[in-house]
Amino acid sequence: MSLKRILVTGGAGFLGSHLCDRLVARGHDVICLDNFFTSQKSNVAHLLGKPNFELIRHDVVHPIWLEVDEIYNMACPAAPGHYQYNPIKTMKTSVMGAINVLGMAKRCRAKVLQASTSEIYGDPEVHPQPETYKGSVNTLGPRACYDEGKRAAETLFMDYHRSNGVNVRIVRIFNTYGPRMHPYDGRVVSNFIRQALRGEDITIFGEGKQTRSFCYVDDLVEGIIRMMDGPDDFIGPVNLGNPDEFTIRELAELVIEQTGAKGRLVFRPLPADDPMQRQPVIDLARRRLGWEPTVKLRDGLRRTIEFFRSVDMSEYRAPTPNY
Ligand code: NAD
Ligand code: UDP
Repeated sequence: MSLKRILVTGGAGFLGSHLCDRLVARGHDVICLDNFFTSQKSNVAHLLGKPNFELIRHDVVHPIWLEVDEIYNMACPAAPGHYQYNPIKTMKTSVMGAINVLGMAKRCRAKVLQASTSEIYGDPEVHPQPETYKGSVNTLGPRACYDEGKRAAETLFMDYHRSNGVNVRIVRIFNTYGPRMHPYDGRVVSNFIRQALRGEDITIFGEGKQTRSFCYVDDLVEGIIRMMDGPDDFIGPVNLGNPDEFTIRELAELVIEQTGAKGRLVFRPLPADDPMQRQPVIDLARRRLGWEPTVKLRDGLRRTIEFFRSVDMSEYRAPTPNY
């Protein structure tokens, strides 16, 4: 295997930091770029002394000149509470960030992978969701800054590919969880575990009948790397996620069982445009990448709960105002 210079934007975040771990362990020369909007250095502190790891504080909205062979474009707040905190900035991050990494890839003749999302399917009328489904997003709602930003980024990736011959990859990531999630990001797994460990009530939005399919982070990172390393005639988009589907109520009950929590289930209003169901069709990833998830929700939750028990939650902060 040849060693490469690899840029990971958003590399200090939840997924980005696990990706950096894997790439550094393989011996690649890894540049982690992040503005720490929704993350903190502690996610990559263990990599800082390594000769093949470099950390740059930078915002992807602004151009940067680096010489690289591959780019994983992970920079973007991903949790609803984080991306709605400053929705205009979220859209800028997706769109300007995509233009900047694509420009860099064009100049360096680098390969560039976009971390897209199941959110591009919106509140889907087709279930489960194959890559051919074009989606149902409310362009006017509070989730649109994220969903439409990611849709525009996919468009930019395809246009740079067609117009400029840039070697691209697009992965559509479904709900992923695991150690290093931000305990206050408001996502369902982090919320339920944090609440359970503190003996607080578990907040279910709506009746908890909506579904999600949860992928453990190690499985997801393996899929992303396979996609980057795969043949140039397979650029995606490809769904990456775990097809095991659970209601939010089932998830709450599993977290209570695994933590021995004392809190009760309490029901809160369902947020606007909250998708009612979500489950990936992963036949394409199975066929073209030989990839499928291996970690069951029960096992992944156990490892995530261990992580939440091990950290000092007071060290985490809300997103930085960033205009
Ligand atoms: P995260 O918030 O932990 O990571 C995002 C990282 O990007 C953070 O470190 C943040 O500080 C950084 N960032 C944000 N704006 C930036 C900017 N303008 N310039 C530089 N850095 C910036 O979220 P995550 O779950 O690790 O998500 C990583 C990527 O994967 C995101 O692009 C997200 O949209 C995508 N994704 C994640 C999931 C999931 O379930 N985790 C699902 C679908 C897609
Ligand atoms: N959710 C919930 N309680 C919480 C946080 C989230 O019931 O404390 C619900 C939320 O309404 C959604 C699902 O859990 O239906 C997943 O939410 P998350 O924010 O994790 O991801 P997304 O909606 O982007 O898939």
